[in-house]
Amino acid sequence: MTLPEASLNPAPGLQGPILQSIAVSKHFSSETGLLQRKKPPVQAVNNVSLAVRRGETLALVGESGSGKSTLGRVLLNLLAPTAGDVIYEGRNLGNLSPQALRQVRRDLQIIFQDPFASLNPRMSVEAIVGEPIWLHRDTNRSARQDQVAELLRTVGLAPEHGSRYPHEFSGGQRQRIGIARALASEPRLILGDEPVSALDVSVQAQVVNLLEDLKHQFGLTLVIVAHGLAVIRHMSDRVAVMYLGEIVELAPVDALFETPFHPYTQALMAAIPVSHPDLRHSRPVLGGDMPSPSNPPSGCRFHTRCPHARPLCREVKPPLGTAEGERQVACHYWREVANAGAGSLRVPTPSAAYSQRLNLFESYQALSLEG
Ligand code: SF4
Repeated sequence: MTLPEASLNPAPGLQGPILQSIAVSKHFSSETGLLQRKKPPVQAVNNVSLAVRRGETLALVGESGSGKSTLGRVLLNLLAPTAGDVIYEGRNLGNLSPQALRQVRRDLQIIFQDPFASLNPRMSVEAIVGEPIWLHRDTNRSARQDQVAELLRTVGLAPEHGSRYPHEFSGGQRQRIGIARALASEPRLILGDEPVSALDVSVQAQVVNLLEDLKHQFGLTLVIVAHGLAVIRHMSDRVAVMYLGEIVELAPVDALFETPFHPYTQALMAAIPVSHPDLRHSRPVLGGDMPSPSNPPSGCRFHTRCPHARPLCREVKPPLGTAEGERQVACHYWREVANAGAGSLRVPTPSAAYSQRLNLFESYQALSLEG
């Protein structure tokens, strides 16, 4: 598939990040409870400033409830922020006309976690993939069919698949259809919202590789939302780690894996299994549950689970500040934590889930070596 020149290169004169959030918050008001008492709002995203660089793959990582998917949807203008601004190519999305927003929607596409739920079961693959072309481009039916066939080939499917329906495909093939649909509007940035977590382990690596190939082929910028670090290690340039609606660490992927500065990042690292006994690190595995986003802890939001917490942490919120180089971390004691993180601690006992993650991680390692 050949995309127009404008899709492959930044628009002339445009510098800086392609997409940016400035002090963005997204709060959801709760329903009124018994006795008509109003519940506090759910603070899904809180005061997040983040710049997505042109052409990079940025991963948003965190547990369920960390706000990563909500932030992704706010960045794509699928949800309006409660406060703050989202800037795309230098333009504030909150100030755009409906017509200008239509163009932005074409430029910013999403791939959903569940490929089956995101595809209309009553529409053929040709109609699903061809819909954005019909909406955004002035083409006749024959030209549209040719473009759909080309898109299907691009994502590793056959043109004949266009006449079939989503239920006739495997999970991996359905995700490829979702990717073809996202590509159909000639986007500049694609957000993958847990794009492989609903797929079999054997298929996950294929879809990851496909996304990487397409990124280079079409000069795309990728934002990948993921709850684990193993998947994103092999496909991202930078990682933003989120906890309870806030970014706690932002770093280039290699630096983050080599020396995680924040205790939460260290705990996420500890959840990645390592196969060789001599290489097994033993940082503490994260315990306890994430506090309610309706009533987040005072000071540092992580202090209720942090093994390094001190009195200051309960009272004063640590800002996301520059650490080393371009790394940013939100922790009062990140230097000590980073040094302590290399210490010798316990190794988690293998379980079924642990073994499954081990296989996944090793399959990525193998693919990475082959590639
Ligand atoms: Fe832990 Fe304190 Fe750092 Fe928060 S500020 S991550 S509680 S050490």
